[in-house]
Amino acid sequence: MARIVLDARNIVRDYNVAGGLFRGGRTVHAVKGVSFTVEQGKTLAIVGESGCGKSTLARIVTLIDAPTAGDLFIDGEKVDIARHGLSKEMRRKVQIVFQNPYGSLNPRQKIGDILGEPLKINTDTPASERRDRAMAMLKKVGLGPEHYNRYPHMFSGGQRQRIAIARALMLNPSLLVLDEPVSALDLSVQAQVLNLLADLQDEFKLTYVFISHDLSVVRYIADDVMVMYFGEAVEYGPRDAVFTNPRHAYTQTLFAATPRADVESIKARLARKRAA
Ligand code: ADP
Ligand code: MG
Repeated sequence: MARIVLDARNIVRDYNVAGGLFRGGRTVHAVKGVSFTVEQGKTLAIVGESGCGKSTLARIVTLIDAPTAGDLFIDGEKVDIARHGLSKEMRRKVQIVFQNPYGSLNPRQKIGDILGEPLKINTDTPASERRDRAMAMLKKVGLGPEHYNRYPHMFSGGQRQRIAIARALMLNPSLLVLDEPVSALDLSVQAQVLNLLADLQDEFKLTYVFISHDLSVVRYIADDVMVMYFGEAVEYGPRDAVFTNPRHAYTQTLFAATPRADVESIKARLARKRAA
């Protein structure tokens, strides 16, 4: 049986929003009791319109934020940030890549230092080995040694997202959460980054939670799909079941509204893989 890397049970997240001067605050129910599991080497896609709670869930799964209620298990171990704080080891296990890589890469740091930093902070890997591993990871994400000493602004959006992915993988995480990782990229670049993620997943048996507002993006990379609507999971199951037989009317409107990503090169990669 495949190992379950992520097990989220009845996750709830409320935000208390302050009111105006003479008004009381109110509560935003951003995530309303959502459950799912992800097996090692698999991809769960979480899809839904802006504001439905995807990033809130991403922050909870990545241990950046604690849920209001519910239980989270990573590699079978229960996580309770609110009560216990977090061990370095638990932090290492889950990494995130955001939509805007420029915002998450320090503009004053060279790429080599950006990649070496997780090792520097979390391990006692010597500098020479950090350098070797950063070089090796650059290669894995389709960049080269000549990029090691450059700064983030010298790269294109797609290259910056490759750097963000490389950094996220430096500590061998059990789980990689990708929050709209290709949404800011041109269609042809989207396909390249999706293919890279798929190749890395095959090579390292990576486990992904892939968040997107765009169903056409997740269609070819997801094993399971969860559709969120106003903080609830209205659809959850194997990709083909959700795509061929959506149970909820909202999913059908998502299909209809979905722009077409450049899926041809993704399909070509899958065909090559099947043939191999
Ligand atoms: P998505 O990523 O699907 O666009 P979010 O998780 O960012 O959705 O937001 C879900 C809901 O929670 C929205 O109504 C949003 O306005 C609200 N929300 C998100 N973060 C906060 C916060 N820090 N404080 C108050 N409300 C928030
Ligand atoms: Mg979001």
